[in-house]
Amino acid sequence: MAISKTEEERVVASVPARLLIGGEWRDADAGATIPVEDPATGATLGEVADATPADAEAALAAADAAFAAFRTVAPRERSEMLRRAYELTVERTEELALLMTLEMGKPLAEARGEVTYAANFLRWYAEEAVRIGGRFTHNETGHGRVLTLKQPIGPCLFITPWNFPLAMGARKIAPAIAAGCTMVVKPARQTPYSMLALAQILEQAGVPAGVVNVVTSSSSGRTMEPLVRDPRMRKLSFTGSTEVGRTLIEQSATQVLKLSMELGGNAPFVVFDDADLDLAVEGALLAKMRNGGEACTSANRFFVQEGVAAAFAERLARRMGELTVGRGTRPGVDVGPLIDDDQRGKVEELVDDAVAHGARVLVGGRRIDGPGWFFEPTVLADVPAGARVLAEEIFGPVAPLVTFADLDEAIARANATEYGLVSYLFTQDVGRAFEAIERLDSGMIGFNQGIVSNAGAPFGGVKQSGFGREGGPEGIDEYLETKYVAMNVGVPPGLAAARD
Ligand code: NAP
Repeated sequence: MAISKTEEERVVASVPARLLIGGEWRDADAGATIPVEDPATGATLGEVADATPADAEAALAAADAAFAAFRTVAPRERSEMLRRAYELTVERTEELALLMTLEMGKPLAEARGEVTYAANFLRWYAEEAVRIGGRFTHNETGHGRVLTLKQPIGPCLFITPWNFPLAMGARKIAPAIAAGCTMVVKPARQTPYSMLALAQILEQAGVPAGVVNVVTSSSSGRTMEPLVRDPRMRKLSFTGSTEVGRTLIEQSATQVLKLSMELGGNAPFVVFDDADLDLAVEGALLAKMRNGGEACTSANRFFVQEGVAAAFAERLARRMGELTVGRGTRPGVDVGPLIDDDQRGKVEELVDDAVAHGARVLVGGRRIDGPGWFFEPTVLADVPAGARVLAEEIFGPVAPLVTFADLDEAIARANATEYGLVSYLFTQDVGRAFEAIERLDSGMIGFNQGIVSNAGAPFGGVKQSGFGREGGPEGIDEYLETKYVAMNVGVPPGLAAARD
């Protein structure tokens, strides 16, 4: 059923469009605001507070002040706060999904999927909060004992991107709360509403004032740098481009800040001759078109073995050509708009450059005129090695296809990138699969499946895709310090022998 304009306005108005600092929702120091746009129409949805560096400092002061008490809150209480937040998030699925579709553009069905994904982090870390342990063991000399404790690291800074506006926040906030940390969260300028709604839910779930502070800003560099360099800040977790990640890594050297960096990707999608082609084509659609191609995990380069290259190209082009492009609130839409005109311009440039280098357009290839930032689902065949589309993160609905002769060539080409987030692999030969899994340079592998995201699994990359892991038991370690106590206790070695 179509969604009415009144319902859209009600959902946007239900979110406090202000800064959350020390438990109070307040306007920015200078009273300024940032307009938030619907990428499907170009219309302004509303305005949110535009923080100054003084606001950001106040948010850090609040997180710092709240830490002393929050670190002592019983694990079971922190767990229950997260569990309530999970339940509230699930209850509000429809509103959250609509909000996300309005500010980011993804179709409602995908936005609902992201609400579930985000909620799953809240539930997973509700379960982990009560399982934080240490270790007690013998010193290897037999004399004395080794005790280790896990303690919350302290105030954290979370900077998140626009492409998964709810889940990228939940993936950081949930383990941090479970660990007993406090935080300042800065969502992307284009998509602040989803994060503000999540902050509202956490507040309703009983998370104490000052634990989660949210700062929206149009001048991220100016407002964030002082926080990154402040000695009260103890951890930075960033999800975004490799370029901004590099800047933050340099800034964080001042305080030797503990870091997690979830950066860009350039995922290879490798299809061998023996693959189940139905599975491979459906996997390709998912790996390419989830989030309209605007995902760090998007398949960016398709390597298909010569024997199945023509069949795979024909089937993928047919399926891509069948997708319905439109505003994400409209029933039956599969692909929404790109986030803004700049991003659409970049996608168009990459397609034009590939064609100029000799690539063939099997389907799509053009922007869609009219309001909003739409681009046709596109498949390019015979893409030559020098084309930019194979080297850069596309972040749009474009699938470049390349053929290969054997496993060595596939691995060499798949690994020929500075990125290493995820690789996809389609084959029915388990021996070949394991050889490829061990030789592919990436933090994650989709083996006969086009999606890897899962709250219970460690998400993260190698090389310039970053470091640190989010999700799973590994995710909470990012927010814990290990303290080791050398203990002069226990039965001294040789005591029993001396008594005999
Ligand atoms: P971006 O330009 O790097 O922005 C990410 C965040 O950083 C935004 O909140 C942005 O704020 C902020 N930012 C920008 N410049 C900053 C600075 N100098 N100091 C502090 N913060 C700054 O990336 P994006 O275009 O939003 O997101 C797309 C990128 O994210 C892609 O490269 C994608 O691969 C990556 N990504 C990675 C993962 C992963 O888990 N590996 C997941 C999702 C996305 P403003 O909005 O105000 O610019």
